[in-house]
Amino acid sequence: MNTDGDHSKSIFKIAQAGIPCFMLSETAQALKFNGHRLKPILPLQQFEIGSYSVLPVPINHMDVRTGERIPGVGFLISDGIEKILFYVDSFYCKYRFKDLDYLALGINYSKATLDPNLNSTRKKRLFKSHLSLENAIKMIQSMDISKLKAIYVLHVSETNGSKLYFKDVLQKKFGKPVII
Ligand SMILES: [Zn+2]
Repeated sequence: MNTDGDHSKSIFKIAQAGIPCFMLSETAQALKFNGHRLKPILPLQQFEIGSYSVLPVPINHMDVRTGERIPGVGFLISDGIEKILFYVDSFYCKYRFKDLDYLALGINYSKATLDPNLNSTRKKRLFKSHLSLENAIKMIQSMDISKLKAIYVLHVSETNGSKLYFKDVLQKKFGKPVII
């Protein structure tokens, strides 16, 4: 997770419910979140939750409201048999993955569905904050997807994206079920 307001609001409720909260210390500081439910993690340092191993994968994300760079991570999670990558709020990913069973990817906009009235500042920030369909395709093409069973698409923009269009393009391109 990261400190983007739209993704972090529920963290205090989660902690109150007794659930451990794994996050970067930068994220905890920015959210003013602390206490014994906080489990600080580091980018690219694998940790275990029960029988799951989790690798935090850095994201590249800019706050669309302020233009400030926000640290954060996605997660590569494995139970020893299957592997899932959960990767949201990143306009780009320099890491390459193989043997994924599931991919849950935040794809926010595409050139074809971008709101024509989007102002240039917002547009520049959007391009440095969230993944486009075009970059998602490049990212998936860089992976060995022979084991991949499904692609989950998250975080599609209401104004700059289209769930139907994204699903159609990805399904045709990769021949895998796409769930949005
Ligand atoms: Zn976001």
